Amino acid sequence: MSKAHRGHGIDELTKKGRGTCPVCKRTGVKLLYEVQVGDKKHEVCKQCKAAIAHGKKQEEIAVISS
Ligand SMILES: [Zn+2]
Repeated sequence: MSKAHRGHGIDELTKKGRGTCPVCKRTGVKLLYEVQVGDKKHEVCKQCKAAIAHGKKQEEIAVISS
């Protein structure tokens, strides 16, 4: 597998995949990670993906998926 989240892999994305994370509200972070919430997918940053995977940030997830 190539580095899908680095370098050439993200060159073609708008602003190289950067934006505002819906979970932590930080701007200019790379939103390259999908989290499944119910039947929807959300693009979040690396830190939030990790936090969600560990069962944290559940309140924020509930907000953005409502
Ligand atoms: Zn985030």
